[in-house]
Amino acid sequence: MHEFSVCQALMEQVTVIADQHPGGRIVGIHLYNGPLSGVDSTLLQHAFEFSKKETLFADCLLSIENHPLRVHCRNCLNDREIAVNDWTCPVCASLDTEVIGGEELILAQVQLDVP
Ligand SMILES: [Zn+2]
Repeated sequence: MHEFSVCQALMEQVTVIADQHPGGRIVGIHLYNGPLSGVDSTLLQHAFEFSKKETLFADCLLSIENHPLRVHCRNCLNDREIAVNDWTCPVCASLDTEVIGGEELILAQVQLDVP
């Protein structure tokens, strides 16, 4: 389950940010996760809950917002959200589409409780 290594990398990244605010307690992390990022939100949430015990993250809430998959249609030039595994353009039914969103895993926000 590679979500554990993703979780580890996330914690390292957030620790670097927290280190810039001495005494700050990490209380919240917000992520955006696209369907093509290769990371399962539920598994990542589990990995986090498991890993955070007795660490700087013990009181931290992880929230993950699932981002939609978006394509740009080269035929009608519209940008639309689509379902995973259906690459046809919802406007003109063309298959000539390219992914413009949904591959991302983004650390959107870190909340620190600074005394
Ligand atoms: Zn189209």
